[in-house]
Amino acid sequence: MIKWLLTLLLPLVAASHILASEVNVDSLKATLIELSLNDAARIEPLVELANFYLYLNPKKTVHYATQALALSKRHNNIFNKAKTLRLLGQAEMYQGLNQEAFAHLNQAIESANASENFHLISVANRAMGVFYELLIDHENAIKYYIEALKFAKLGDKKEDLAMVFNNLGNVLNSQNDHINAAKYFEQSIDINTELNDIEMKMNASVGLSVSFLKSGKLLKAQSLLEKVISKPSLISDFTFSEASVNLAHVYKLSKEFSSAKSLYKFVINDEKGSAYPPAVAAAYLGLGEILIQTNQIKEAVDIYQKGIIEVKDKISVESEMALYENLAKLELSQGNFEAAATIQSEYIERRNQIQPLMQEGIVQKLENQLQMERDYIKLQNQLLISERESRHSSLYLFAVIVFSLISLVLFLILMLRKQVISRLEATNITLKKASETDPLTGIGNRRFLENKINSFKGKDIQMAFLLLDIDHFKDINDNFGHDAGDVILVAIADTIKRLCRKDDLLARIGGEEFVILNMNSNEESAYLFAERVRVCVEGLARSFEATVTTSIGVALGNMKKASYDDLYKQADIALYSAKDQGRNKVLLYSKQNALRMIK
Ligand code: GH3
Ligand code: MG
Ligand code: MG
Repeated sequence: MIKWLLTLLLPLVAASHILASEVNVDSLKATLIELSLNDAARIEPLVELANFYLYLNPKKTVHYATQALALSKRHNNIFNKAKTLRLLGQAEMYQGLNQEAFAHLNQAIESANASENFHLISVANRAMGVFYELLIDHENAIKYYIEALKFAKLGDKKEDLAMVFNNLGNVLNSQNDHINAAKYFEQSIDINTELNDIEMKMNASVGLSVSFLKSGKLLKAQSLLEKVISKPSLISDFTFSEASVNLAHVYKLSKEFSSAKSLYKFVINDEKGSAYPPAVAAAYLGLGEILIQTNQIKEAVDIYQKGIIEVKDKISVESEMALYENLAKLELSQGNFEAAATIQSEYIERRNQIQPLMQEGIVQKLENQLQMERDYIKLQNQLLISERESRHSSLYLFAVIVFSLISLVLFLILMLRKQVISRLEATNITLKKASETDPLTGIGNRRFLENKINSFKGKDIQMAFLLLDIDHFKDINDNFGHDAGDVILVAIADTIKRLCRKDDLLARIGGEEFVILNMNSNEESAYLFAERVRVCVEGLARSFEATVTTSIGVALGNMKKASYDDLYKQADIALYSAKDQGRNKVLLYSKQNALRMIK
């Protein structure tokens, strides 16, 4: 956003009709040395010196105007009192001393009114109009310009009229009423042509070119500005810098960036230090915009920052604000929220510096603006905070999700592992069980028995080993068939199982051979148990038409010493004897008397 504040103050420069070349500063100073301190004759040269330094060195203007004012009061010189008050006010305004400026400009209007001099009244009112325009209060500016216009018309100085037209043209340009602005500038040009005031005519031409520029008539603006620039000796450095910066704007809008850049840089460099400050500010703004358009963001940021430092505390309040705004927007667009917030707060601080210097109407207006800006900053800060928070919380959320996912995956892996392991374990158990189970009867097989006995090996466990072989089973198969034989085998297994105690073990180790292990058994209890088994098997004949009997050989041993083979062999010997002795018998193996029946 470029603010077109140019040509604003020039009418006032020209108000004195003094160009630097026309003033003999040395002779004025020499005159002052010749005069005594209280001499009324000092007033005129002091006023002239104050006027001469107004734009070159406003501090010097204050210095001379203060002396002139004191003398004017002492000598009751109302005319010069009004003039020095106006000069003092303007010089203060250009140094950013707005409070003092406002007070002195009000006093200047008062004094001018008291003098009843239309020219003085008109100039004082115009100065106040400029003051308001600098503070971006166009309404009050126009109010004072209209007052100035009224008195310019009442007076006999046509140049006053031309200058008010220029001021009105400027303020209307600021309000984007380019058509009416152009009309004022044209009237000003006519008057200055008539007066043969080339400096003022050029000044009005620059204003007119701004009207053209703002209404898109680039070619018209360009030719007018090039004409102004071609005559540097006829115009002040102020007008020249203004024309240059506007021509740069034209080039920029025509996309002739390199021409625009060099013109902007020329104004910014301001080698003589006599460029019009708002033109310098506008040059920073324009150069920054080109850099943004050519995607040199870092350079644009640098230029805006430099511009702010350069423009600060000078008369170009509006341009200064525009520089802040542009820099803040640029930082925001780059996602540099913190930098943007810092600039915004500087901007508000600067606004606050200006604010107390203003009159009620403006204060209210700026208060609203400030409130809006404060809200904006608050919003930015909230955005910043919420962004940080959301960054943190999303990071936290992200971490939680990742952690949860990892946990879940680990949990699943563990579960799966556990499941796999338990399934494997179950499979192992099933396989082990299957490998140790007799498929026909569902009791343990030889492997089961061997494994069990081996697991007892070396332990102090006393046990009885009962080896059973069904008598004449071959005949059962032959008489009733193999299937019936199986059924009988199952029945035998079930019968024995029922007889066994909790700790006893039962296995089918061969076709119709079974083994029972009685834990912690002695000879007697083992024999009694074997006998019960024999009787029960015999009893199966009630269920089957067949005769089913079994012979049982019993061996006893302690697992500290004994082995499966030992026990099996001994029991087998006893069994063989039982068979030999007529079957359906229990025989106990004994080392002493080889085989004996307990009974
Ligand atoms: P004994 O023992 O009294 O001397 O006479 P036995 O007829 O029982 O003779 P032996 O023990 O030598 O014969 C075993 C018979 O058992 C041979 C086979 O036909 C039968 N047998 C072995 N396993 C099975 C089986 O799983 N099912 C059936 N139905 N018969 C079997
Ligand atoms: Mg057998
Ligand atoms: Mg047999």
